[in-house]
Parts: sequence; C-alpha cells; structure tokens
Amino acid sequence: MADRNTKGGGPLALPTTERAVAVAMAAGSGFNTGAVTWTLGRGQRGKRSPRRAEIRIQKKRRRRWLRKHGRVHPDLAALGQIIAGCRRGRLQRRCLHPACPDCAHALQRLLVRTVGHLTAGEPKVAWVTVSIILPASRPNGEADFVGARAQAETLLRAAGVTVGVLGLDVSFNEDHRDALPKDERFADHASVHLYGLIRAEEAPAAQAALKRLIPASEAIRRPVQTKPWDGNLTAVAYAHKPEFQRRQTILRADAKRGLVRTTRDRLLTVEQRIQAVRALDRAGLTGRIILLGLDFKPTNTGRLRLVPTT
Ligand SMILES: [Zn+2]
Repeated sequence: MADRNTKGGGPLALPTTERAVAVAMAAGSGFNTGAVTWTLGRGQRGKRSPRRAEIRIQKKRRRRWLRKHGRVHPDLAALGQIIAGCRRGRLQRRCLHPACPDCAHALQRLLVRTVGHLTAGEPKVAWVTVSIILPASRPNGEADFVGARAQAETLLRAAGVTVGVLGLDVSFNEDHRDALPKDERFADHASVHLYGLIRAEEAPAAQAALKRLIPASEAIRRPVQTKPWDGNLTAVAYAHKPEFQRRQTILRADAKRGLVRTTRDRLLTVEQRIQAVRALDRAGLTGRIILLGLDFKPTNTGRLRLVPTT
C-alpha cells in the first residue's frame, strides 16, 4: 500500500516532481473545476470536462465500491479509508491519492493548466502529439504503470526525444472476434498507452526510431502514431484522464468491405477495476506523468509551472 501521502514525513519526503505537485495541490491548485475547462475526446465528443457535482458523485461511488470489495480485499478497504478521509476533519486535507476521483481530476486539471501555460508562453514552438502503445511490461499482462514508465522513458530517450510532457493510460483489451478461430485471436490483456506532446522539430526522427523499436503485432497494429498538435487542451487532458477503458476488438459487417475490424468501449469489469486501482496505488500521485527536459517548479504565488531542466 502506498502510504507516502499519509505517513513518512509528508510531502517533504517525496521525490522532486511529486513534491512540487503535492505542495501545489495541498494549497488547493487544480481543485477549482471552473478555472480551466476542455471538451472530452474519444467516444464523448463535445462533452465538457466534469463539474464539481459530477466528481462528487464519482467519489461517493468509488468509496462505496472500495468498501464493498474491501470486505474480500483488505488493500481496497485501506484505500477506501484514505479516500474517505479526503477533505474530512478540521484540516480538510486532500488525500492526494491517484484513485481518489476528486484528487485525480484535480491533478488532470492542474496538468492541463500547467501545460497550457507552457505552450502559450512559447507561441513559436510547434508540438506534435505522440501516441505509443507500449509492449507489455509484465508477463501476465497485468496493468503496471511503474514498469511502463521506466520503459517509456527509455524508449523516448532512445528515440532522441529531449523535450516532452506525456502521460500513461491503460486500457483493458479483449478480442471479441468470435468468427475467428481461437488461435487467431489475442489474449485479454492490459495495454499501457503513452500519450502526450513532443517538440515538432524532433518528431520525424523520433517517429522513425520508435517504429523500429516497437514492432506492430496482431494485438497492436499501429503502436506508434504522431499528429501535429492544434493547441487544443483536450489532448493534454486525454493524456492524464482519471478513468480507463475496456476496449473490445470486434468484427463489423460492412456493405462494401465485408467483415472489418473495429473496437467498442465498455465499462471495466470488477476484476479490471481492481487491477486499475492497484496499479494506481503502486504508481502514486505522479506515477503516470512523464517529463523529458522539463521540471515542475512552484512559483512564489504557489502556482505550478513547467520549466526547462537545468
Ligand atoms: Zn482525495
């Protein structure tokens, strides 16, 4: 159980990135849902980023869910306690746990704001969104942000990326192409997805190198994709979204092309949700953030900024 936010010397005992973020969030940064908004991406087009009331409902639901499954899994009961203590009591301290809907949404919002400030401050710098499906870092196909983060940093550096701000996301992939023989379908697995912004000038060489480093497979046909960034904060929010998807690969009948491969999204199963919550707990508050050539720095007014690494 990651208890770094509740015991062990408080924020000062944390590594630099996590400390800067934790200090800013402890001061309230990121919790104002009106301070920055964006529209949601894939599958939810046009919907606005969640408001306070929606997040409050999610938090209630998460606590109830943790309490229920905590009867069988003591680690989930302990997590439920942490989240139940968020903003409770005289000090109203936030729990800053990545499985807490309130704190996870605040972290996402804080990143959207901080990255937005960075890019707006350098209007002549062009960025590219990069999307990489990482090869499984655990042999059993379980969700693992800790291994994936190390793997992602190594891959990006090997591909010559020197500046970037990216996030890790997980989807639970299932093969529902029932018309295919079993040996042609892939096994269910958690797939960690790296998504974020890199400098446009570094993108062509990085894309070529990444394609060499991560070969395509039946389960992952296009592991590396890049696209010029239009400045829309939806992409930044997407990289740090608090909710995960269960993605089913299916065959759909198409009048012209016959059976075509496509995907549909579903809600996570209980087992997948348990896996996701445990992966978040192991990762810690900032364990899904990847910074290259940039560091978080608090300003003297308590705001969080991204600055070039010195
Ligand atoms: Zn919290």
